[in-house]
Amino acid sequence: MEKIRMKNPVVEMDGDEMTRILWADIKDELILPFVELQSEYYDLGLPNRDATRDAVTVAAAEAIKKWRVGVKCATITPNAQRMEEYKLHEMWRSPNGTIRAILDGTVFRTPIPCPVIRPYIPGWTKPITVARHSYGDLYKDTEFRVEGPGKAELLFTGADGSVQRQTVYDFEGPGVLQGCFNKDSSIENFARSCFEYALGERRDLWFSAKDTIMKKYDGLFKETFQRLYDAEYKTRFEQAGITYFYTLIDDAVARLVRSAGGMVWALKNYDGDVMSDMISTAFGSLAMMTSVLVTADGRYEYEAAHGTVTRHYYRHLRGEKTSTNPVATIYAWSGALRRRGELDGTPELAGYADALEQSVLDTISAGTVTGDLAALMDTRPEPVDSGAFLAAVRGRLEAKLQ
Ligand code: NAP
Ligand code: MG
Repeated sequence: MEKIRMKNPVVEMDGDEMTRILWADIKDELILPFVELQSEYYDLGLPNRDATRDAVTVAAAEAIKKWRVGVKCATITPNAQRMEEYKLHEMWRSPNGTIRAILDGTVFRTPIPCPVIRPYIPGWTKPITVARHSYGDLYKDTEFRVEGPGKAELLFTGADGSVQRQTVYDFEGPGVLQGCFNKDSSIENFARSCFEYALGERRDLWFSAKDTIMKKYDGLFKETFQRLYDAEYKTRFEQAGITYFYTLIDDAVARLVRSAGGMVWALKNYDGDVMSDMISTAFGSLAMMTSVLVTADGRYEYEAAHGTVTRHYYRHLRGEKTSTNPVATIYAWSGALRRRGELDGTPELAGYADALEQSVLDTISAGTVTGDLAALMDTRPEPVDSGAFLAAVRGRLEAKLQ
């Protein structure tokens, strides 16, 4: 079989623990036998992030700017326990946070629809995509412990020397304090990438926030969406037969549960973080959720929405075979290679990505599944380990590509 050629590389970012093991297996079984892979490799595994003082993460983000398409393995975000476990020099920030801060994009998370798995909310017949703003807010906050009585103020010194000042709270005892920010430019990029994505997919766009409470902060998000919609997108949305809809986040949650799904749901950074886990679980499994970071100037970074599956990794280290679901990581690769093919005008590469995804779905439909999915299926098939699942997908892929 002749391997499919690539014109330009994708930026490949390796990661940690169980997903790092799966990463190598996916390449060996499903990619390298079929594609003359061109990738610019960055090792974002925690030992190398520590060794490079996290410079590797920044370099990877810069490479995505250059090559436009990246694919990332799940990575550990260090905490106190990881500091000890990996003997780290510093508690490095979340690599996803660092990359998002450099690229300033929007993360779109979509469940992989699979006919044999019924969503927990039976009315949801179409996938719901969560569009998460990925800049600022709580993820770039400044916070500290207030040790005792005193006055907390919000102080802004303008470049012209002017001063704005407001009391946050007069502490009568110890407490805690937090400051957050966002930027007009980032909010505009967010709104724009959501409108473009919804148009591209021909799906309704919802945006929800809490502007009744955060009148200025969430108010700016709401106004920006509405302003851009009225000025630039209204006609295009009407022509495409789709709608834009703003509602308060609590109202959105209630309406969503009663809906048939199918919409793109735009949310602020923290809301999107939380709601995407709810949506993915409701559709079946966290392991069946894809994630893509899209920037307003057309850069794409694909990954799985789940983490490094630490518990399975410790079992793997004890020599046990694990039944870890590789599907979202496979879809990160197929998404990146399809996009590469579209950008480079190499339809064979996009065709390979389609065949790979179809082979995954056929394998699942035939009842060859990992433990997380077996538990969700009415037929209760006997789960297989990750290696057997990948081998079954490879068999189907070979047949399709011949
Ligand atoms: P996790 O890795 O997503 O795993 C949580 C649990 O979900 C697992 O123990 C497993 O449940 C189930 N699960 C997740 N993915 C699965 C898969 N592919 N196949 C089968 N089951 C799967 O989350 P975590 O344990 O909270 O975090 C572990 C590490 O990942 C942390 O260090 C965190 O910082 C990092 N993380 C990274 C990213 C990212 O890079 N994007 C995102 C989130 C977390 P059972 O054990 O019950 O089988
Ligand atoms: Mg989360």
